[in-house]
Amino acid sequence: MREKLLALAALQKVDTEVAALKKNADGYPKDIGELEKQLAVAKAAVDAERTKFDELEKQKLTLEQTIVEDRDKVKKWEGRLTEQRSTREYSALAREIDIAKKGQQTMAEEVIELGRQATIQREVVRAKDAEFKEKSKGLVEKIDALKQKLAAAEAAVKALDGDRESAAKAVDATLLKRYDVVRKKRMPAMSPLVPPGVCKGCGMNVRAQFYNTLVASKGVETCPSCSRIVYAQEVLEEPATK
Ligand SMILES: [Zn+2]
Repeated sequence: MREKLLALAALQKVDTEVAALKKNADGYPKDIGELEKQLAVAKAAVDAERTKFDELEKQKLTLEQTIVEDRDKVKKWEGRLTEQRSTREYSALAREIDIAKKGQQTMAEEVIELGRQATIQREVVRAKDAEFKEKSKGLVEKIDALKQKLAAAEAAVKALDGDRESAAKAVDATLLKRYDVVRKKRMPAMSPLVPPGVCKGCGMNVRAQFYNTLVASKGVETCPSCSRIVYAQEVLEEPATK
């Protein structure tokens, strides 16, 4: 019976190790996601400033094209000015030309203003981009470190697969089935009883009789409180007789 207990204890040791590794790595994907989100937010902030700059440049270009087109139009009008027969027609066209020229003046001023804004915005983009590069360097380093840790934990768990398999093979089949059922609900699934009969898993004090029976049988029982597989601690503590 004691051998059965030892085999199960060995299996539980592997399972505990795997569980600890998994628990340790549990937060990594969430942490990685959080950092990646920060990176995306920082990137979006730079992109937004860059879009503002592009927008200013586009407005400036459109306005410059309008000015060129307008200038051609005025030139044509000016050519037609001499062809006007009546004073009324002449002054009407002259007024149109005057209005158009004033409009050109306004647009030219706007072009200068847009250029000024674009220059300022270009600096904003440059500063934000530098800030982002600095920040992203740190974030990417953190993300990479976490990814490495995650991979290492996964590799460690995988490495224990073989250990688990051979440890499970050594456990009595009925006991293994029972253990696996309890294990899904609570870890550790097997827990020692310490004198005078306290379950280490849940702290429940069972009857002394219950404990004494386990000492004598060197076997296992189910804790009435937490349903863990329990055994008398001293059974595994005593030196092997074989
Ligand atoms: Zn218990």
